Amino acid sequence: MSNSSGVKVNAPSYAPITLTTWVAGVAELTQPDEIYWCDGSVEERDYLIEEMVASGTLLALNEDLRPGCYLARTGPSDAADVPDRTFVCTERPEDAGPTNHWANPDAMKQVLADKFNGAMRGRRMYVIPYSLGPVGGPMSKLGIEITDSPYVVVTMYTLTRIGNPALNAIAMGGFWVPGVHSVGYPLRSADGVTRPDVPWPCNPDKYIAHFPGTCEIWSYGSGLGDSAVLGRKCFALRLASVLGHEAQWYAEHMLLAKLTSPEGEVSYVAGAFPSGNAANLATLQPALPGWTSEVIGNDVAWLRADRDGQLRAINPGAGFCGSVGGLSGESSPAMLRALERDAIFTNVALTDDGDVWWEGLTDEPPAHLVDWRGDDWTPQSGRPAAHPGAGYVVGAKRMPALAKEHDDPVGVPVSVIAFGGCRASVMPLIAEAYSWEHGVFLGATLASEETGPDGATDVQRDPFAMRSYCGYNLADYWTHWLHLGRTLGAKAPHVVAVNWFRRTADGTLAWPGGGDNWRPIEWALRRVAHQAGATTGICGRVPSADDLNADGLDLTDEQLDSLLDLDPAECAVEADAIERYFGSFGNKLPAELTLELADLRGRIAAKAAS
Ligand code: MN
Repeated sequence: MSNSSGVKVNAPSYAPITLTTWVAGVAELTQPDEIYWCDGSVEERDYLIEEMVASGTLLALNEDLRPGCYLARTGPSDAADVPDRTFVCTERPEDAGPTNHWANPDAMKQVLADKFNGAMRGRRMYVIPYSLGPVGGPMSKLGIEITDSPYVVVTMYTLTRIGNPALNAIAMGGFWVPGVHSVGYPLRSADGVTRPDVPWPCNPDKYIAHFPGTCEIWSYGSGLGDSAVLGRKCFALRLASVLGHEAQWYAEHMLLAKLTSPEGEVSYVAGAFPSGNAANLATLQPALPGWTSEVIGNDVAWLRADRDGQLRAINPGAGFCGSVGGLSGESSPAMLRALERDAIFTNVALTDDGDVWWEGLTDEPPAHLVDWRGDDWTPQSGRPAAHPGAGYVVGAKRMPALAKEHDDPVGVPVSVIAFGGCRASVMPLIAEAYSWEHGVFLGATLASEETGPDGATDVQRDPFAMRSYCGYNLADYWTHWLHLGRTLGAKAPHVVAVNWFRRTADGTLAWPGGGDNWRPIEWALRRVAHQAGATTGICGRVPSADDLNADGLDLTDEQLDSLLDLDPAECAVEADAIERYFGSFGNKLPAELTLELADLRGRIAAKAAS
């Protein structure tokens, strides 16, 4: 089969006709020189890496220091996510909601038809069949990404399950989500004028467009990360959240961790942490003597109630990726070990002996580096050596503390859901929700605050850590979460809000962080087992200093109490801020959350009067 532009579709014989017709149509629009169907083999990955090393897209790192590792430099025009160019295209703006950039689907399709017209001239088009979650699993979903970027193929290979098994499942009739990506840098014009390729092809004009109505993704102009690797945030969160909304499941920006007590009891915790660094919690060993933690996922979790009414979760991904910002041997020992081999780094600095470096990796920067732009750098250069968004991608099997359940198709039972805020004063170290509805309120009001150089505090609301990743109106999303509580009933996990970022009067962090962050979670697990006390607080039930396991913790009871205590006057200001935030969702705001806000105000008044 070939299409009217003459290029052979080259589909495997068992590919279904709906798929090959779609691929032929995309090829007719984008006019690639050849079409290649990815089989997902390691040979295929190695071949593409070799090609990218030859073309200068990837730089091989020192084989002794960082075996199997590579560095990609994107250049300044493609170094970061582009939230302003990320669209949710629904018929009605209110279906996308106030937190998404809305576009009309027909108008966007017209713009994209123009952009993609001839966009792959002179290039190879890759067809990537993939599965999010183990192929064939009851919670898994299938997709096809078409791309003209070998970097995207290799990243999809590392982060999802690509190739023949996924194509087989599609051939068996499985539902699949189509995604089309182009770097927007054709090597030949419509009238045949050619130009040479560059190490990092991309286009300054970028569109990352989601179409919930037809369940498809079109991404143009970027070659990097979440903008181009469509099996990640685009499908696993934005479109999956829409699919879940329609079918009683939940695509969440959550880590998944397995905790084992000294007695060998196993529990699973899901957590939404807006500040990226805290997501490393999943890879941190507890400071609690005798406890161990293992990681199932550190970014995305898909949740649903099973037939017995137990909430279960899978990590739909198959690898780890993230920003290197804040990663060091001290803060993230397991993650650093995972990056010792077979990792691909983007926009980090290069050392003179062919290793990687970024700000914070070591206290002392090396005397000389090549920075992320490829220029010479010394500590006197006065600019960062690594881009602030520099990142890594590595396969799951490199993670030393990987839980064996990470690829269990039926998922793990969740005991505790944690929402991690970043607040100097208005949230305690931990608070347990009074009810499922209150838990949804804690997730919906999740926020991070940053103090600027002028001392002013900026509060960024990031409900469920999903502000940038929910493919529909967040108020409808809260309604969907309220519904889950009615499904789960008494089997619902305990919901807690945690906050590692309380500050003392002199502005220093009051909580040590790191592996100690598991201490409040351990209290929450004992709450689930009815083995820990709690007192009534403004933001939820809180432990007393005695209720927390403080073995080996270097804090006085007084210091612990102050981490759990709240000032009603400050909380009243926070309640006003929440009311204003909720107001931006108009009449879509579920009534339960208005009631929860009233209850919060009642608890604040009672505390103020006591
Ligand atoms: Mn993330």
